[in-house]
Amino acid sequence: MHEIKKSDKKEEAYNRQVKYYLYMLEQNGIRATGLLEYPKLRKTQEVFLSVPDREFIEETKKDIGNVIHSETCPGRIPKPKCKNCSNFDFCYSNEV
Ligand code: SF4
Repeated sequence: MHEIKKSDKKEEAYNRQVKYYLYMLEQNGIRATGLLEYPKLRKTQEVFLSVPDREFIEETKKDIGNVIHSETCPGRIPKPKCKNCSNFDFCYSNEV
């Protein structure tokens, strides 16, 4: 599977995104490797799914399920860590 990022910097989140795609393919009987391409950086990175990656994804899925089925929303994290989050307006819109 091949993922192209327009960003001018590499980020761990992109790597994890591709690993999740590989995990989902594997869950559906397809073994694959990933290719993460950064055209602006002229870099290409191969991505593989390891045993610890699978364990991390399964733990993360459990954590997400716990949040989804919880009666309450998790608290906000400190604002400086939220600068690239697409939910920023939802979390901080009522701030004075
Ligand atoms: S803005 Fe995003 S990262 Fe920050 S608390 Fe809200 S959901 Fe979490």
